[in-house]
Amino acid sequence: MHSGNPVFIPGPTNIPEHLRKACDMPTVDHRSALFGDILHPALDGVRKVLKSESAEIFIFSSTGTGGWETALTNCLSAGDRVLAARNGMFSHKWINMCERHGLDVQIVETPWGAALPANRYEEILAADANHEIKVVLATHNETATGVKSDIAAVRSALDASGHPALLFVDGVSSIASMDFRFDEWGVDVAVTGSQKGFMLTAGLAIVGFSAKAMEATRTGTLPRTFFDVHDMSKGYAANGYPYTPPVGLINGLKESCHIILEEGLENVFARHHRIAEGVRKAVRAWGFELCAESPECYSDTVSAIKTPEGFNSTDLVTHAARKYDVAFGVGLGDVTGKVFRIGHLGRLTDVMALSGIATAEMCMADLGLDIRLGSGVAAAQEFYRNGSAS
Ligand SMILES: *Cc1c(COP(=O)(O)O)cnc(C)c1O
Repeated sequence: MHSGNPVFIPGPTNIPEHLRKACDMPTVDHRSALFGDILHPALDGVRKVLKSESAEIFIFSSTGTGGWETALTNCLSAGDRVLAARNGMFSHKWINMCERHGLDVQIVETPWGAALPANRYEEILAADANHEIKVVLATHNETATGVKSDIAAVRSALDASGHPALLFVDGVSSIASMDFRFDEWGVDVAVTGSQKGFMLTAGLAIVGFSAKAMEATRTGTLPRTFFDVHDMSKGYAANGYPYTPPVGLINGLKESCHIILEEGLENVFARHHRIAEGVRKAVRAWGFELCAESPECYSDTVSAIKTPEGFNSTDLVTHAARKYDVAFGVGLGDVTGKVFRIGHLGRLTDVMALSGIATAEMCMADLGLDIRLGSGVAAAQEFYRNGSAS
């Protein structure tokens, strides 16, 4: 039995009751106009959430990982050069996928905890006089380290060097929770999934393609079948799919966009920022540090918190699940055992965040860490009390 406690993993998020109900539907014919009334508002909603006028939106039954593959296989050919920074587990996995598709990845090794080095990108792009780099990858929010990167700065690096490479952005843990500007930042492909900012179960890969990315699909020759955006486009034109779509989940996405846009994107971003700030106040009160190395790169959707030397952070996560039925995120990859993560994205309130902070404190005390019960809670309470209520 589920305890009813909120989860504090950085995706899947807590699912608002309204969205759970929106996914629970009787079967409808997925080749009917009725399905079109679900699909097209979902596509329009996603476009608005991306802050785009004209991006082509595609929704696959998959996850964010399938969105990465959609971006790569539709636009690129084997041997194409890709520029990417590795600063955490998710950027690492996207690079690994590129390599497995036979792409030639120029990797900028970046400390786990630091943001993407846009300056370094600019030097590399400027030096690439023959324009061999076809795509620049950017992970907007590294979920493993709680690090946000500056996508506008990556755009500037491309523009300053007059480089025509496409810009692919992994926005899986930022889109619909943190400011994302598809058009303004000149993003060519944006990737996300249903279980993070959109607050649904996993099951959808959601991507946006610019006109320039659509143009690149004409020359890219990597094999693609399930994730072919042209097959999908043809389906959409007839209110359908090239295969059977998960209608309930797409209905959930339509409703999710509706509630996000009704709250207002800027209000959603401000709420995430306020809740995250409260968590950060608690971390400071405990005397701990974030994995993210400076305030400009603090993520508003997840905090990766360093635990003291000699303490295995995974124990805290295991203990929280076993004793209190509360889920925190473990450290991944290079930071396994060194950090635990508090996810604070989706439909969270100040009150829910306080319960997570309080639980983390109980676990730390149980496991013998030197913290005073209530210290982080009090710091967050002071902050939430004086911020505007949600
Ligand atoms: C969760 C996540 C992914 C992977 O998405 P899946 O839906 O698990 O395939 C990719 N990138 C980032 C930044 C993520 O947070």
